[in-house]
Amino acid sequence: MNLKVEIDRRSGFCGGVIRAIGSAEKYLADNPGHNLCSLGAIVHNEEEMARLSAKGLKTISSLDQAMEGPVLIRAHGEPPATYRKAEDLNLKLIDCTCPVVLRLQENIREAYGKVSAQGGKIIIFGRIGHAEVLGLVGQTEGEAIVVETPDMLLGALESGLIDTGAPVEVFSQTTGSPEVYSQICEILSSRMRKEGLITIHNTICSQVAFRHSQLGEFARLHDVVVFVSGKHSSNGNVLYKLCKNVNSRSYSVSSEADIDPSWFRDGDSVGVCGATSTPKWLLEKIAAALGGIKTVC
Ligand code: SF4
Repeated sequence: MNLKVEIDRRSGFCGGVIRAIGSAEKYLADNPGHNLCSLGAIVHNEEEMARLSAKGLKTISSLDQAMEGPVLIRAHGEPPATYRKAEDLNLKLIDCTCPVVLRLQENIREAYGKVSAQGGKIIIFGRIGHAEVLGLVGQTEGEAIVVETPDMLLGALESGLIDTGAPVEVFSQTTGSPEVYSQICEILSSRMRKEGLITIHNTICSQVAFRHSQLGEFARLHDVVVFVSGKHSSNGNVLYKLCKNVNSRSYSVSSEADIDPSWFRDGDSVGVCGATSTPKWLLEKIAAALGGIKTVC
């Protein structure tokens, strides 16, 4: 089968992930024979995790599991409780929290100080339980309300969880969908009882926002889209939905084993793209595998 395969040159790791992986690789290269523990998966991509694990990177889910040597804090960041615990356990940290996430944490902490004194709330648009969101909620002593969808926001408004007569400050997880965030902000703005009670912060990472606008165009240009991402990548799920919305022949894969030859017709142009947690080398591997497809199942 003859396929024209193009890799989206803007897909691949974001700056925060590049920085965290670079720090891990540097530590492992400078300390041969040693392992390095990362608190949580450094990137939500199984293939990249396997590559780093072969170099000595171990993933732990709690600081209690830390072995000798420092513990790496990934780009998603951590709540203040993690830093207190590391101090109690006398653990050294390699803090790779993305500077954009650090700034967001600071802004939320500051806003929480302001609104909580007036009986108001911090609202965060993000995925409940996602590592970055846990770090953000931690800046508010666990008080922030997290909403994943407009329906969830409507539920919080109807149940009285959000007082529309008190100030609210709204933030988004850095990898949230710009479209859904603006729907959430619109609903909330329309429900507030007085003008000036709502402050909306534009906190979607510019690298993510740019990818949203550009990826739709890329997906439209091709007959078939192969979207490469880890199964647990929040950004991957959002961007894959975006591709599927503009091109119904979009398919999500995490490795070349997921490719199904029946997706393609002879002469198709195929766009290969991915999330902020998808390594470039994996995009290239998938593109090479597509070039080798010979028959339709
Ligand atoms: S998506 Fe943006 S904010 Fe989030 S880790 Fe990557 S560069 Fe940092």
